[in-house]
Amino acid sequence: MNLLQKSSQTLRAAELIKCGFKTNIVVQDTGLSSNLIRTLYKEVQGESPKAGQLPSPASILATIQSLAHASIVIENYIELVESDTVRVDINALIQANKQYRTILKKNRELELTKELTINECWVLIRGLQAKQVKLHHCDNGHFFITTPKQRTLPTCPFCQLHQH
Ligand SMILES: [Zn+2]
Repeated sequence: MNLLQKSSQTLRAAELIKCGFKTNIVVQDTGLSSNLIRTLYKEVQGESPKAGQLPSPASILATIQSLAHASIVIENYIELVESDTVRVDINALIQANKQYRTILKKNRELELTKELTINECWVLIRGLQAKQVKLHHCDNGHFFITTPKQRTLPTCPFCQLHQH
């Protein structure tokens, strides 16, 4: 990486940190060293980054509500990306996350339930590329996702919510 590339990637990294991405995601996206990203994080956020692993897709999909939230994010993401990319398209992810939050405000059943973090959204999209996250449509036309070992029933969360 030459100096110009490095400085433009540093600016991008600062943007991603402002969006709330964990440092290991920023490292993967920008190709910059984790030492540099940690220093940058302190400059941008005024505190050291919190340690901690990213969750697994299965642990994110722990409730019917989170399965519904995740399905909304993935549906929006898929509409934004042009084809199967090998890497997570972070710009599309940020856009999909904004749309998801707008949809939540209009959804009475989901608006007061726990929102996914941008890092959880990233994990799900990476799972999609690793073929751990699968896409489905139910008989009522809802789009939803499943992943192996999820703690909820691998059926449509929107139909399950409507039954209660
Ligand atoms: Zn359904």
